[in-house]
Amino acid sequence: MAEEKKIPYKIYLEENEMPKQWYNVRADMKNKPAPLLNPGTHQPMTAEELGGVFCEELVQQELDNDNAYIDIPEEIRDFYKMYRPSPLVRAYCLEEKLQTPAKIYYKFEGNNTSGSHKLNSAIAQAYYAKKQGLKGVTTETGAGQWGTALSMACSYFDLDCKVYMVKVSYEQKPFRREVMRVYGASVTPSPSMETEIGKKINAEHPGTTGSLGCAISEAVEVAVKNPGYRYVLGSVLNQVLLHQSVIGLETKAALDKYNIKPDIIIGCAGGGSNLGGLISPFMGEKLRGEADYRIIAVEPASCPSFTRGRYAYDFADTGMVCPLAKMYTLGSDFIPSANHAGGLRYHGMSPVLSQLYDDGLMEAVSVEQTRVFEAAEQFARVEGILPAPESSHAIRAAIDEALKCKETGEEKTIVFGLTGTGYFDMVAYEKYHDGKMDDYIPSDEELAKYAAKLPKID
Ligand SMILES: *Cc1c(COP(=O)(O)O)cnc(C)c1O
Repeated sequence: MAEEKKIPYKIYLEENEMPKQWYNVRADMKNKPAPLLNPGTHQPMTAEELGGVFCEELVQQELDNDNAYIDIPEEIRDFYKMYRPSPLVRAYCLEEKLQTPAKIYYKFEGNNTSGSHKLNSAIAQAYYAKKQGLKGVTTETGAGQWGTALSMACSYFDLDCKVYMVKVSYEQKPFRREVMRVYGASVTPSPSMETEIGKKINAEHPGTTGSLGCAISEAVEVAVKNPGYRYVLGSVLNQVLLHQSVIGLETKAALDKYNIKPDIIIGCAGGGSNLGGLISPFMGEKLRGEADYRIIAVEPASCPSFTRGRYAYDFADTGMVCPLAKMYTLGSDFIPSANHAGGLRYHGMSPVLSQLYDDGLMEAVSVEQTRVFEAAEQFARVEGILPAPESSHAIRAAIDEALKCKETGEEKTIVFGLTGTGYFDMVAYEKYHDGKMDDYIPSDEELAKYAAKLPKID
């Protein structure tokens, strides 16, 4: 026990110990993620085609399945230094509360104004857009975390930022909207009447409150039609997982300082970027046969892409203008019930994680909303941090694993990603406290209906 306490509550890295390169897990994958396909021809997207939508250097990163390490430009490292390294915290208080022999660590990404890990990729994407001499970027945001992160990154590099925000969030989350405007972004509720796809969706579904898939279509349309603009996306894509590898690299460096080997690594999964980033260096060791870890993705029972989806090519957006991606998906027009983890409501999953999951290299579990909030509150009361509902999915799974250790007496080491804070989610907490939260789980029939509409690709 005395030796045990040598591990501090927070393991920090010195500035000079921070990663200077991102790690690209695709380089070590035997089965590479399937390529993005042109939605018209069903042929793999070329760099040239992708370049019409995305920034040049990001296209290179998207298509790079071979280089294991990619330098983090100095400008990005300088920005990272403002809020990184993020702490790796030993959850001594939670362990005590649970009376578990398990050792629990969490990597906390909520220590920046955007309140989540999304800033790690936003700053990289804004940097490459600036370097290319672009005027600005367009994007969509659902709950608002990505739009907030991107608006911060764009203001830092003096780029214009146009955000299409799902209408229901635009109306229900005015504070997120205002944070984006503090950083100079223009925020438009989607579907809008500014784009062809927006007009079409408004005509077909009068009064619609929008969806992420629809906002993506609008943002892509605006990027393609306006010279000097490109589209950027905050999750799912290979390049985003690459940028988020900074989370895993820091975690590994911190654990290595104390010779700690995790047994289980857990993260919530919406589009897969934080989990992909957290596990990358560990998965690399696993792929190279150097170590073994249990890796668990946690998703909402209301939007169970991994646990109940199909591994197939699908559209990334409702308007079907984006490339097709092979991923675990519920179908591009699956509309998840209104759960309170907006960042986990996407129908698909990162192609990298989808391939790793299909190869049996990681596991997935789904959890119901009220159990997630129960864990969130338990955590907040002992560890002090008010967690985001998305992050709390990982907390739930970590607590469940720690409780299993309590039964078996095993002293497993559990590491989980705590992706952000929940200050903008108090309506959700209110519903939980008032007993008004429901645990909607889609039926097999419902899921089959959407799966039947997946595009047929041979
Ligand atoms: C967006 C978001 C997520 C989910 O996105 P991933 O790409 O799956 O990481 C999780 N937590 C928070 C706080 C988020 O903002």
